[in-house]
Amino acid sequence: MPRLVVLGHPVGHSRSPAIHNAALAALGMGEEWSYEAIDVAPDAFEARVRAMPAEGFVGANVTVPHKGAALAVADELSETAREIGAANTLVFSNGDIRAENTDADGLLNALPVSPAGMRALVLGAGGAARAVVWALLREGAEVAVWNRTELRSRHLCEELGGTPVSDPDPATYELIVNSTAVGLAGEDPFAELPLDPALFMPGQTVVDMVYDQSPTALLRAAEAAGAGIVDGLEILLQQGALSFEIWTGRKPPLDVMRTAARA
Ligand code: NAP
Repeated sequence: MPRLVVLGHPVGHSRSPAIHNAALAALGMGEEWSYEAIDVAPDAFEARVRAMPAEGFVGANVTVPHKGAALAVADELSETAREIGAANTLVFSNGDIRAENTDADGLLNALPVSPAGMRALVLGAGGAARAVVWALLREGAEVAVWNRTELRSRHLCEELGGTPVSDPDPATYELIVNSTAVGLAGEDPFAELPLDPALFMPGQTVVDMVYDQSPTALLRAAEAAGAGIVDGLEILLQQGALSFEIWTGRKPPLDVMRTAARA
């Protein structure tokens, strides 16, 4: 009975079990495979992960605050995970722990078109922003990074590339990605971020990584102005679909996952 899991702290809110169990059921794998959520405190993470293969686990998704620790516990890292400096997917096989990062390709798969050649503004400099900046640069976008704490955006750009900006003009970007936590606790994005709802326009794509409510206030304003929008649930299910394929070797049904994510 292969077991899959999402590890986080807290993790009770996670939609990943619903998304993955729906995909397993749709592929006729639901009798054998299972996907659950386990809350692990940071100081227990390494020991808990090392015990998992013996308990039948073959893979794990890893979320806040464990994405850095997931890298440290692994015997083998994918190039993407190493370069981003975080892992959201672990694979347990033949006594080895391999770390992967599907957040970057999950973002790219959620975008309506390739960001190659676009001017992109990334808001944030935490774990989510690192994967976004890495992915957009790899695809050939021109990336500016704003963060409330400027020192962090400067460090991020020194490590990964991109240009730190302190007072961006949102009207000059074709792609805007909110990868801060603003909106998670109901904050006003236009008070906390260098954005103005009057400056969104058709032809722009606005992405909000926050997925607790959808659409967020940011995406509602962007959509009202005629911009294209991508919400955090779409990104969550796209990165989950890539992890699912790594563990099972099967392509999961995205429509089934999407319905489960939004239920
Ligand atoms: P993190 O590492 O804790 O980083 C948080 C970021 O938010 C930092 O850049 C922080 O700026 C900024 N921030 C927090 N409060 C702010 C405020 N009031 N005003 C301006 N900036 C503020 O978190 P993370 O892991 O990067 O996650 C960020 C968000 O992305 C969360 O909402 C998370 O749920 C979401 N996420 C979504 C997906 C998905 O699949 N959809 C995947 C990963 C993460 P400072 O540096 O100044 O503190």
